[in-house]
Amino acid sequence: MKTNTKIVIVGAGLAGLTAAIHLSKLGYSIIIIEKNSFPKHKVCGEYISNEVLPYLDWLDINPSLLKSTSIDSVVFSTAKGKTISAPLPMGGFGVSRYALDFYLYQKAMDQQCKVIHETVSYLHYENDAFTINLTNNETITADIVIGAFGKRSNLDQQLERSFMQKKSPWLAVKAHYKGDYPNNLVGLYNFKGGYCGVSKVENNTINICYLADYETFKQYKNIEEYQTKVVCQNPFLQSIFKNVTPVFEKPLTISQISFDEKKPVDNHVLMIGDSAGLIHPLCGNGMAMAIRSAKIVSELVDDYSKGMIKTRKELEIAYTNHWNRNFKNRLRTGRILGAILQRQNLSEYLIRILMMFPSLFSGIIRRTHGKNIVVTT
Ligand SMILES: Cc1cc2nc3c(=O)[nH]c(=O)nc-3n(C[C@H](O)[C@H](O)[C@H](O)COP(=O)(O)OP(=O)(O)OC[C@H]3O[C@@H](n4cnc5c(N)ncnc54)[C@H](O)[C@@H]3O)c2cc1C
Repeated sequence: MKTNTKIVIVGAGLAGLTAAIHLSKLGYSIIIIEKNSFPKHKVCGEYISNEVLPYLDWLDINPSLLKSTSIDSVVFSTAKGKTISAPLPMGGFGVSRYALDFYLYQKAMDQQCKVIHETVSYLHYENDAFTINLTNNETITADIVIGAFGKRSNLDQQLERSFMQKKSPWLAVKAHYKGDYPNNLVGLYNFKGGYCGVSKVENNTINICYLADYETFKQYKNIEEYQTKVVCQNPFLQSIFKNVTPVFEKPLTISQISFDEKKPVDNHVLMIGDSAGLIHPLCGNGMAMAIRSAKIVSELVDDYSKGMIKTRKELEIAYTNHWNRNFKNRLRTGRILGAILQRQNLSEYLIRILMMFPSLFSGIIRRTHGKNIVVTT
């Protein structure tokens, strides 16, 4: 039986903070290493599926305190402006990452988690233990490392993860706006080479976030020109952008977004959230997956520390199996949908089929989401 297992979490995004809150609730002392400070805006559609609510409630996390918006419908539009809408089977809520991540960070601090604001430059596993080097030359050791460092990190390079060998064709742009948009709706609007999510977050603010293919994007001088000439070819997006006022000085952008497969356990690090795999944003499920994977890893690490899982190998196999069972199909569906939306003709064809068989649309939404997270502990 192992006691006092030393657990270090790298990355304090949704996944890392949720795992820290869960494990500290079980009595573990947790060290989180995060390179950025809080609060901070992040590129994200900011719509979260309600499947996480029972678990957040168990963790004593209440997003409605942040004045999140309740969302129960989705509309999808092709680039030419054909639309289909549906109720969201489980519904969700809109809240900015600025507010949510900061709230979780404060909660983790309240539960005595130690947050070190540094970049991890090197992770090394040897003789059943980890050595973690920080950019300030400090070295930390750990029995368990939970990798929650997001979709693309310097550590993916250092750990020689295979998805880093390929260039990724995707970039994303996000900004907040003031204006009119239905509170209960998440809109998904296709345009040539990309798609855009629109929904409300707290304070009556509209979040507009789009994924675009780099090949098309680089043909334009700047974001403004790209938005006018490509994104706004979709008549709904044209009208939305015309009638909103930006809150940000300029939009946030990220590039090199990869949807390639990753390993949930790599170099003995237990990966959670986007470090384990990123689902196409059109599914609106990445945050729920980050939160759910934090639950799975926390429960298994607890079992390992209590000796119910005997060896590290058993722990790694159990985590990989749980991860695949929960997420592999969602990611596959997301990849297929992402590929369809990149081809304008296919996406027009898809919407014609969905209009003929509307229940298929709800079926697709269900395939990209999980069931309510059941809390048994
Ligand atoms: C364009 C776009 C739109 C999206 N829209 C939605 C949506 O509407 N709904 C939804 O559910 N999901 C959406 N997602 C997915 C969602 O944003 C992610 O799944 C979620 O942010 C994953 O959280 P995470 O904790 O894994 O990663 P992150 O939130 O990225 O956290 C990783 C953290 O690790 C830190 N870090 C990285 N490297 C190091 C290091 N070496 N040392 C220390 N710290 C480090 C980073 O600073 C960061 O804070 C979208 C994604 C994209 C790209």
